[in-house]
Amino acid sequence: MAVKLPIYMDYHSTTPVDPEVLEAMLPYFREHFGNAASRNHPFGWNAEAAVDRAREQIGSLIGCKPQEIVFTSGATESDNLAVKGVAYAMKHKGDHIVTSVIEHHAVLDSCRRLEKEGFRVTYLSVDKDGLVDPMAVEEAITDKTILVTIMYANNEIGVLQPVKEIGAICRQKGIVFHSDAVQAVGKIPARVDDLNVDFMSLTAHKMYGPKGVGALYVRMTKPPVKLVPLMDGGGHERGRRSGTLAVPGIVGLGAACVKCERIMEEESKRLVGLRERLKKGIFGRLDHVYLNGHPEKRLPGNCNISFEFVEGESLLMAMKEVAVSSGSACTSATLEPSYVLMALGVGEELAHSSIRFGLGRWNTEEEVDFVVEKVGERVKRLREMSPLYAMALQGVDLKSVQSSSR
Ligand SMILES: *Cc1c(COP(=O)(O)O)cnc(C)c1O
Repeated sequence: MAVKLPIYMDYHSTTPVDPEVLEAMLPYFREHFGNAASRNHPFGWNAEAAVDRAREQIGSLIGCKPQEIVFTSGATESDNLAVKGVAYAMKHKGDHIVTSVIEHHAVLDSCRRLEKEGFRVTYLSVDKDGLVDPMAVEEAITDKTILVTIMYANNEIGVLQPVKEIGAICRQKGIVFHSDAVQAVGKIPARVDDLNVDFMSLTAHKMYGPKGVGALYVRMTKPPVKLVPLMDGGGHERGRRSGTLAVPGIVGLGAACVKCERIMEEESKRLVGLRERLKKGIFGRLDHVYLNGHPEKRLPGNCNISFEFVEGESLLMAMKEVAVSSGSACTSATLEPSYVLMALGVGEELAHSSIRFGLGRWNTEEEVDFVVEKVGERVKRLREMSPLYAMALQGVDLKSVQSSSR
């Protein structure tokens, strides 16, 4: 069977809207266009009812109460709100934040901003598999620590952090714990009580919903965890995020949660199957290839591979039929090697030669087989032009050659 080109294998950067999700959204653009904050007529009531339903649908997927959901414009905003909102609210208690070096830029840059404002941040390193050590979190915590923020699933290498253990440490020490769970929610179980999180970010467009809408889970405790809002205005979302709610998008996020919850178990097995097929296919055809990130503790659909002696960018150019990314989509414009891979100790050369394959809902075995063939063929061809590869094949120790030529 012929596959339709180009093939999309970049599901970590965004996903298409599921037809079931789109269907649910459509009435909210036209007949039910009301403002969810309008209290005086059925247009408003209808919109509010739809938003409330979405809160319950999200709550069902992540195991929280509807009131604990704050709608945002996406996970960049959710991360900003969690990190800065908590820091500003807890300023009287301390000035120290703990995070990791492989967080998404939405978390890292929020931390950088806070550092400019006088907060102190510890950026924990990761091991060669990309894992944060919970003991390192424990050791980093001081009596001035007000927030720990560690992601659940990494967007480049798909590695799953021991969030449950880290959360338990934070809880025991009475420290607020936020997790960016954008890549995990809807793909693998991500329930707030199991993960011991107080705040959790998610976004619709990474889980087959629309772009421009996300949520921040905020645990309701007594006394409640305070959050200083970043948006001032009408006091929507219990004062935590002002602005008219994006009702069609919110309905889409709710519907996306419903479908993810329904098919998660089966779909994650299917994706693990495809991922292993892709990995075996590539490793069977090529030498000098390396998997980045822990082999099992990773997202079902993630496969990040370094192809030694090949530039990732050249490989992308050579495989225009396949949409994948080298490094992360956010930083690939800069041609800097991925900071996530560098943090694993992969080395600049190999970091530059990496490709992220992000498998998702509409990928098929035929597509995987096509990609395996293409990658095998194109990498071999690119290596034919590489003098370093020729030397490696002859058994020349490249490290000595490279260092003596410097
Ligand atoms: C995509 C992504 C974000 C940003 O989400 P947006 O909704 O696009 O702003 C944050 N964190 C992670 C891990 C992501 O993959």
